[in-house]
Amino acid sequence: MRNGMDKIKRFIDCYVPITTCTLRCHYCYITQHGLFAQKIPKLKYSVETVRKALSKERLGGTCLINFCAAGETLLLKELLDYVRALLEEGHYVMIVTNATVSSRFDEVVKFPPTLLRRLFFKFSYHYLELKQKNLLEKFFKNIQKVRDAGCSFTLEVTPSDELIPFIDEMNQKAVEELGAIPHVTVARDERDPEKLPILTEMSKEEYKEVWGKFHSALFDYKMELFEVRRTEFCYAGEWSFYLNLGTGMMSQCYKSLKEQNIFEHPEQPIVFCPIGNNCLEHHCYNGHVWIALGDIPELLAPTYAELRNRVCEDGSEWINPEMKSFMGSKLFESNKSYTSEEKAVVNKKLHRLIVRRHLKHRVANLLKVVRREK
Ligand code: SF4
Repeated sequence: MRNGMDKIKRFIDCYVPITTCTLRCHYCYITQHGLFAQKIPKLKYSVETVRKALSKERLGGTCLINFCAAGETLLLKELLDYVRALLEEGHYVMIVTNATVSSRFDEVVKFPPTLLRRLFFKFSYHYLELKQKNLLEKFFKNIQKVRDAGCSFTLEVTPSDELIPFIDEMNQKAVEELGAIPHVTVARDERDPEKLPILTEMSKEEYKEVWGKFHSALFDYKMELFEVRRTEFCYAGEWSFYLNLGTGMMSQCYKSLKEQNIFEHPEQPIVFCPIGNNCLEHHCYNGHVWIALGDIPELLAPTYAELRNRVCEDGSEWINPEMKSFMGSKLFESNKSYTSEEKAVVNKKLHRLIVRRHLKHRVANLLKVVRREK
């Protein structure tokens, strides 16, 4: 049921196991890794199981659930069945998509309007690929279709050096079709999987100069977080988590010290454990979601709604009031923060795991050496 006062209890970043795509952008992480699996997998866990596993009761309240694949999310035909079930459960859902699989948009607009009010699309605006493949009209038609049906959305550009000569025409098209220019993300170079630096030949200053012109709160905030190692106490693992829709494995964040299959026994409670002061990443490259939603309460951050919304020339907005209010709430408003004693207990427990992991690695490496010498 609609409730304008809903506040976010948890954020779940849900990986959809698809590595194939309708486009072939040169900066894409899948292209960079040379992975383009052709097969679309069948999901092991049914819609009913996933709904039960992610019920409001089990999660403790209304959650924001993001669906994103390594390839094109909506190539998975059944995905919308899962989305619908979670909307019916009362959650708010986001889908990351390149808006090229038209049949899915025809299908989604048939959902009841009360569900569509809690559905948000992140449309990736791959301008050069869309233009080259003659897909721009189709792209915008699909976006307008869901917008007119009551969904919220954002339009996001992945900055690349090759795109710079086309910025004006790309923005003009976005204004004509959707009333405002796109937001800008920061592209990471996956050829260095440890550090994940910015994917560009320009200096950081030049990069900021070029893409800063979009006045995108998303870009500005991502740039602020990029290359900053996080040492604060982070609630990822409890207030938020990463989930694989194919396997049911839940982890604290992309890199994690604890894992659990939460689809196998949906009647049992989930064991939540924050990662604390033990973030394993070089930097929080998707902190525009995790941190903006409140995983590190002591950091002042814009709201997620601020990072995604645009006000159009006619005064309308990309995000509807209900979604805006929900995306404007923070995880620390509906979750209890830990005392310093509680934090110390978590950190101690996780330290033990880190030590055990190091030891295991060292033993494995030693065994490799011994075997080679035999
Ligand atoms: S600081 Fe960011 S990357 Fe690190 S665990 Fe928290 S959310 Fe994940």
